[in-house]
Amino acid sequence: MTASPRPLVAGNWKMNGLKAQLKELAAMATAYDSALRTKVDLLICPPATLAPLAAHTALGSHIAIGAQDCHAKASGAHTGDISAEMLADAGLTHVIVGHSERRADHGETDAVVRAKAIAAKRAGLVAIVCVGETEAQRRAGETLDVVGAQLDGSVPAGFSARELVLAYEPIWAIGTGLTPTTADVAVVHAFIRTRLGKLLGTDGASVRILYGGSVKASNAAELMVVPDVNGALVGGASLTAADFMGIAAVYR
Ligand code: PEP
Repeated sequence: MTASPRPLVAGNWKMNGLKAQLKELAAMATAYDSALRTKVDLLICPPATLAPLAAHTALGSHIAIGAQDCHAKASGAHTGDISAEMLADAGLTHVIVGHSERRADHGETDAVVRAKAIAAKRAGLVAIVCVGETEAQRRAGETLDVVGAQLDGSVPAGFSARELVLAYEPIWAIGTGLTPTTADVAVVHAFIRTRLGKLLGTDGASVRILYGGSVKASNAAELMVVPDVNGALVGGASLTAADFMGIAAVYR
């Protein structure tokens, strides 16, 4: 039997935060004591403007710092974009690819997301690939078909559990205060686990599958014990140390 993957609680600050926001990261670093460090990994993905400063703030704290997106190419004439190599050079270790807001706002297809995940691996970063259905798709009973197609299209072959994290984020749960039932989360995560096995072989069993969508300290305990939920991807509640560490604390 494969041991459960070590949990990861990841924060996505989205387009939020000026330099003053880094005091929250510093407070998280203080609260991430040696006992908690044995139980759960922590990651914060600030906006690109704060990334190198955040990497500096987090130095020695064991909190990893990641990015929210990358370009698929290593360099070139792509105004406004940032490559995975640049992120690694800035001290980052992870990059979120295929967040639903990027899929919606920037028209990112599964093929684009897959190319970005490959770029992350090329640069030595862990790719956090996001999938999830819309409210209409859930109502129509299409959740597993949609998530399955996103996995097939976005997850590159040959990735190991050290190179990939999967995040299941129902779009209708992001920033709304709504969450699926724990039974519904269990169904989707079990489905993702099986599909990852088909796509990645034995590595699929140890890829971390995060749940994302309105995770807060008040609901984290029940969501994080669902089978095949190996942590959380947190938006709004990652902006303060109190909220974020309240979520991480369920692993104490
Ligand atoms: C997200 O956007 O990844 C997210 C999960 O946001 P929130 O926690 O605010 O729902």
